[in-house]
Amino acid sequence: MTPAPCRHCGRAKVNRPRGLCWTCYYTPGVKERHPNPSKFARRGVGNLTGNRPDPAGPTSARPGTAEKLAVLAERAKDGVNLWHPDDVTLTPDPEPATGEPEEEPADDW
Ligand SMILES: [Zn+2]
Repeated sequence: MTPAPCRHCGRAKVNRPRGLCWTCYYTPGVKERHPNPSKFARRGVGNLTGNRPDPAGPTSARPGTAEKLAVLAERAKDGVNLWHPDDVTLTPDPEPATGEPEEEPADDW
């Protein structure tokens, strides 16, 4: 089996990612013209890591619903955080503090 030639110069043997030869891969600007064909390469709207602004407002859509997924997709497209601190969650809010510390009933003998 003959290895395919470099996608850029078409001459040298491919020994770098993206189907490029060593020379082309390290020539400025060449790599950028040959997108990474790997299925692990970034696709779609990106993987949303790093710092992004919070969404404009929370959603009342419950987690796991199609509505929530649509909200997440919209946020991804907008380049904002997927999660808003005030989004509806499955866990109820903690009980508001009453001010009175709760005491265990004393065991009177
Ligand atoms: Zn080349």
